[in-house]
Amino acid sequence: MVAYAHEPIVAIATAPGQGGIGVVRVSGKNLLPLTQTLFSTPLKARHAHYLDFNDANGTPIDKGIVLFFPAPHSYTGEDVLELQGHGGPAVLRRLLERCLEAGAHLGLRHAEPGEFTHRAFLNDRIDLAQAEAVADLIEASSEAAARSAMASLSGAFSHQVNALDERIVHLRMLVEATLDFPEEEIEFLEKYQAHEQLVSIQNDLNEILQQAGQGMILREGLHVVLAGQPNVGKSSLLNALAGDDIAIVTPVAGTTRDKVVQQIHINGVPIHIIDTAGLRDTDDTVERIGIERTWAEIEKANVIIHLQDIRSPEDPLDSDITERLPARTPVLNVFNKLDLATEKPTSTDSRLYISAKSGDGLNELRQRLLDIAGWKPTSESPWLARERHVNALKSAAGHLELAAQHAQFNDSVLDLFAEELRLAHEDLCAITGQFTSDDLLGEIFSSFCIGK
Ligand code: GDP
Repeated sequence: MVAYAHEPIVAIATAPGQGGIGVVRVSGKNLLPLTQTLFSTPLKARHAHYLDFNDANGTPIDKGIVLFFPAPHSYTGEDVLELQGHGGPAVLRRLLERCLEAGAHLGLRHAEPGEFTHRAFLNDRIDLAQAEAVADLIEASSEAAARSAMASLSGAFSHQVNALDERIVHLRMLVEATLDFPEEEIEFLEKYQAHEQLVSIQNDLNEILQQAGQGMILREGLHVVLAGQPNVGKSSLLNALAGDDIAIVTPVAGTTRDKVVQQIHINGVPIHIIDTAGLRDTDDTVERIGIERTWAEIEKANVIIHLQDIRSPEDPLDSDITERLPARTPVLNVFNKLDLATEKPTSTDSRLYISAKSGDGLNELRQRLLDIAGWKPTSESPWLARERHVNALKSAAGHLELAAQHAQFNDSVLDLFAEELRLAHEDLCAITGQFTSDDLLGEIFSSFCIGK
């Protein structure tokens, strides 16, 4: 991703493939000359014109709606031209080429991924958290995630962060004013009730952090690996949770040789379930590679479901698997084929009994997965959050905690108190993008799709 470039950009803004409508979008400082080359009619601002889209010789390529949004009242804050034609790949490519040709003298070029939104950010149309919400809204895989992304896009998250930041800045201003006039440095912290202000800011930050944690779960989901010996029912469980047949289920051991990933939703939370090759000793080279990959997946998992056959609960091979599982990752010990068991034990905290075949115990398994994710159905998740936001909020909380420690020494270390407030302020600003490195911006915007 380049830093702000001034030349106009163009891209097909709709998804590749066929559709009723396809949109080509152009953004630039001054697109008037381009509109004049493309159309003989002058374009009224924000007015739908139904016009021919002609090639350089005047032969129609398509006919459709043209919208012109003069700066600054547009998505990017620059002039924006939208051509809405028929949604076919060939016709849209021709329209794109026509724009590039007609705008060549202006330096018009293909847009890079996320470049329209990057410009919107650089022109202060939206802040960084809102720009990220644009991508999150497009990528949202559940209705809950889409709703929360929209709330972030409308500024709900940024607003809370900014309101908190203003209080930190205000407190810091009071401290710095005191530091500038040392002769008046009399019991500053007491006079301005700084302790109380700080505690209240810390409480509110913790509240935002808690909500951001929920928002992050909603965005990132949970990576769950199904591990266990061959034939215990891993693929059957995946299918039962997913509700359709995506993994091959056979009574022959060692069928799943590579991983199968399926995304399901539990109460709107995305759960990425990874079915893996059954873990056993084998001479089959292909199967062995599958097993090595299983262990690699296990290392990356947020949660491991160690699936076992209820009819052989103390299998030494399962003890071997248990021993190899990483200690840092939560493991659910799940015993399958409850329908075949002569006795029907009830699940405990450490053991869950299910039948992938009959569906018994699956709701409890779903609930356990949500519990492990930290999902609290009662707590609201008004906006989506990314790991970056949660880390910045945690860092700000750390600085406020240090400020609180300095405050215990009353006014003797006011400068250190002020410094921690400054650092907390910088962390919050990083969320909305007031202090952000070009590298980070590049990383964020390059993950967008082209045309956005
Ligand atoms: P994997 O190798 O661990 O993926 O096991 P599969 O899902 O391929 O299942 C192995 C065999 O066990 C198949 O014949 C399944 O139909 C059967 N199976 C799986 N789960 C259950 C269950 O809950 N009850 C019963 N009776 N059979 C099951």
